[in-house]
Amino acid sequence: MSVVGFDFGNQSCIVAVARLRAIDVVLNDESNRETPAIVCFGEKQRFIGTAGAASAMMNPKNSISQIKRLVGKKFADPELQRDLKSLPFVVTEGNDGYPLIHARYLGEAKTFTPTQVFGMMLSNLKEIAQKNLCAAVVDCCIGIPAYFTDLERRAVLDAARIAGLHPLRLIHEMTATALAYGIYKKDLPENDQLNVAFVDFGHSSMQVCIVGFKKGQLKVLAHSFDRSLGGRDFDEVLFRYFAGKFKEEYKIDVYENAKACIRLRAACEKMKKMLSANAEAPLTIECLMDEKDVRGFMRRDDFEKLSLPILERVKGPLEKALAEAGLTIETVHTVEVVGSGSRIPAINKILTDFFKKEPRRTMDASECVARGCALQCAMLSPTFKVREFEVNESLPFSIALSWKGSGTDAQDNGQENQQSSLVFPKGNPIPSIKALTFYRSGTFSVDFQYGDVSVTQTPARISTYTIGPFQTINSERAKVKVKVRLNLHGIVSVEGATLLEEEEIEVPVSKETTGENTKMDVDEAPADAAAPPASIDTGANMQDAKTSTAPGVENGIPESGDKPLQTDTDTKAPKKKVKKTKIPVAELVYGAMVPVDVEIAIEKEFEMALQDRVMEETKDKKNEVEAYVYDMRHKLNDQYQEFVTAHEREDFTTKLQQVKDWLYEDGEDETKGVYVAKLEELKVQGDPIEVRYKEYMERGTIIEQFIYCV
Ligand code: ATP
Ligand code: MG
Repeated sequence: MSVVGFDFGNQSCIVAVARLRAIDVVLNDESNRETPAIVCFGEKQRFIGTAGAASAMMNPKNSISQIKRLVGKKFADPELQRDLKSLPFVVTEGNDGYPLIHARYLGEAKTFTPTQVFGMMLSNLKEIAQKNLCAAVVDCCIGIPAYFTDLERRAVLDAARIAGLHPLRLIHEMTATALAYGIYKKDLPENDQLNVAFVDFGHSSMQVCIVGFKKGQLKVLAHSFDRSLGGRDFDEVLFRYFAGKFKEEYKIDVYENAKACIRLRAACEKMKKMLSANAEAPLTIECLMDEKDVRGFMRRDDFEKLSLPILERVKGPLEKALAEAGLTIETVHTVEVVGSGSRIPAINKILTDFFKKEPRRTMDASECVARGCALQCAMLSPTFKVREFEVNESLPFSIALSWKGSGTDAQDNGQENQQSSLVFPKGNPIPSIKALTFYRSGTFSVDFQYGDVSVTQTPARISTYTIGPFQTINSERAKVKVKVRLNLHGIVSVEGATLLEEEEIEVPVSKETTGENTKMDVDEAPADAAAPPASIDTGANMQDAKTSTAPGVENGIPESGDKPLQTDTDTKAPKKKVKKTKIPVAELVYGAMVPVDVEIAIEKEFEMALQDRVMEETKDKKNEVEAYVYDMRHKLNDQYQEFVTAHEREDFTTKLQQVKDWLYEDGEDETKGVYVAKLEELKVQGDPIEVRYKEYMERGTIIEQFIYCV
């Protein structure tokens, strides 16, 4: 079983795999460590990753990038609306209120969901891993930003399923970085704590995570972020500046031309990178628009002045993280900077001024997330033995559970009052399970909501769980225990619900009953269950509801009542017992893909991948024909010269020339089968010559002159 970690960046992705003794970042088909996060839809196939980036300039409207910004968000989301303004492809609102990406694919106008496109990218990354490992890849860990909402996390899982992957964990990118940092550190204190602030300045967002390290463990003390502050904002500063300047100077409006926009943005990004290492940088683009060549120039000082509004935002997440971790600058021992956007010198200066120490770059700024993900995958996978290292993750935002309670009956319509409780407050360990007790006589529902919408910037409601139907004795209210789970991915759900009813039973003769083969378990009645407090009449509320926490427990809370019960029937004394009955739970997650849609998307992905493969094989076959033509033409005049008659050579050379012409004319765009047939046709003539030559070489005979007669 392979162990793989994916860093799915907004701009580029990295794949790391666990090998026997090390974690390695693997190369893609183009021998690059970074794979652009881009899918380009073509007339005959898709181009993904590096091939996608190469096609993007030619086909901007069908090149989908910044996928990480689009998944799990409503179309009306203000952040998404802002992002769309600078994207060259068309996105509209689907019937469900979520974005639909438009692209021309196989000669037709098509729409795709962001999750589907995310899945395409993941399929490509999976392929890269498989080629390197020469093995199937299913289990993996995928890095996600800490600010990803419940829905964004679910979208990543759905995308992974579309790609045929099974993530063992969606791990916060900064936690993965901290793991990759801490697990190899030999000098971690045993009784003290080493506090490290990790700052990631990526393409579209900035994240800060303060982590406390001790020997054999890390504990996340705070997560903070700016969801929309990254390297691309600096590109945009330059882009706007030069777009304005070129309008004045060259009378061209790049905003009117998608291709010109892409080219200018690319040139601005290049200029930004140059300004990281140089005090000034030029910008030259030939034939940008209306056949005009443009030139520009920028000094680093001026760039920093233009970027001031962006640079001023960098301090915010730093202050927040420090406050949340309850630390002072003096108690942060080290600052580690990652993310390629952090190469801008002005950012380094802000970090140095803030922490009053020079940030370090111990980690490989672009590869650390993928390495951490692969490490986490190895730790969770049974195939690898990894050094013991505890990862204590914390929830970056709070999640509340709400329900309707009423004065008389929980199921009254109209007069119910909404109640809620912060089941998983910010900082809650991940994973975690809690149990809540409600008093109900029939079906009821509970909602998960974000505790602080200003942090998640998304609609408050996450999901609704309908618990029921169930029947209680004499239609009285009974205790219902609801287990809620915050899983390893940071996703919340209702794990299950159990009806706990008190009943008097006559215990059967000295025979052991386990209750396992019946629908209900038998439990000793807890003292408080016999006479619920009067306040419970108003319906469940958190004062009445009991919660128990089992941080770190993934597979449920141990049930004391699951033990076999031993009784003696001779006495036949009636005894108060608690009957446990499982209650059905129906899940509705707002905006999430339903399983049948995931299945359809898996099928579609399979079809598209097949089409890509056929096209790749077609190209390979065409190249084979072309290579054969060139190779044979050369050999006929070289080493095969003495193994063919003059007539035979002339005839074959003519044939080869005809095929060469055909490849550039009628045969330019043929099917794989046609190229295979063409190659066979040539080989009918070429193979006997090749055989003769080989036989001669194998015999090793030196012949002065060889005359071949038919
Ligand atoms: P995210 O983390 O936001 O999902 P990502 O992981 O793809 O995105 P990174 O690869 O960490 O992002 O960083 C990409 C950003 O870094 C781009 O904006 C790129 O222009 C910028 N960048 C790369 N090299 C330099 C450099 N030398 N100077 C300044 N910026 C740079
Ligand atoms: Mg990143």
